[in-house]
Amino acid sequence: MFRTFSVFICSNHQIIIELQTPQKNNSMNKRDFIKTSMVVGAGTLLSAPLISSCATGTVKSTALLTSLVPYGAAGFEQQPLAYAFDALAPNVDAQTMELHYGKHHAGYTKKFNAALEAASIETTDIHEIFANISSSPAGVRNNGGGYFNHALYWNFMSPDGGGEPGGKLLTAIEKAFGSLDEFKQKFSTAAATQFGSGWAWLVLDEEGTLQVSATANQDNPLMDDAEIKGTPLLNIDVWEHAYYLNYQNRRKEYITNFWKVLNWDIVEKLYVEAIG
Ligand code: MN
Repeated sequence: MFRTFSVFICSNHQIIIELQTPQKNNSMNKRDFIKTSMVVGAGTLLSAPLISSCATGTVKSTALLTSLVPYGAAGFEQQPLAYAFDALAPNVDAQTMELHYGKHHAGYTKKFNAALEAASIETTDIHEIFANISSSPAGVRNNGGGYFNHALYWNFMSPDGGGEPGGKLLTAIEKAFGSLDEFKQKFSTAAATQFGSGWAWLVLDEEGTLQVSATANQDNPLMDDAEIKGTPLLNIDVWEHAYYLNYQNRRKEYITNFWKVLNWDIVEKLYVEAIG
């Protein structure tokens, strides 16, 4: 027997009704529910088991986010860094930036384009790629995430960063987390406690609520199988290559200093665009 249901209205006017059936242990933990979904559209009722989001992704494409992952003649491209390799020192050192941008991110970019070609995926819409990632080869997931996550990360840091956000973003953070400090604590904890390699995120979820999450490896909140799906507004890389040269094993110190270079301006712009 179905106990609860959720209704999602997609941007493409599909309506998805998600029915949740508790498993035998009667746990109320959401993860223990078996989900069955139906897509309702154009007067038809189609059974579509295990759909948990709109067919083309519930997270709409946004111009600013898309501009951070430009597509050109060679496929997806790395944006030039907006600052010099040593501009974030001592919070992020020059050698780490040079290797991270010039080797790690460049490598993901090259391999992502190769993986797309090998899988005959021709779309240039990165939202669409991640909305179908669970049915894509691992190379598309790992290198696509590596390409996209880093493209955002460079923009979240600036030699003019630090301080506090303002406007609608600050209001939304205070509403969601209680205060800016409580948000920073929650985000820092998510980053510090992510086991192994991964990322922490501030996400505008599918219900329009701000949430903090963490993802393993190069996964991100645009992926259709992410635990918390939504529009990414902020991330921090907690792979060891992001901090080990400067901080060795002191990941917490790297996270503390990340706030000193955080470019709130682009976080606010992404938020305003996402709610618009
Ligand atoms: Mn990295």
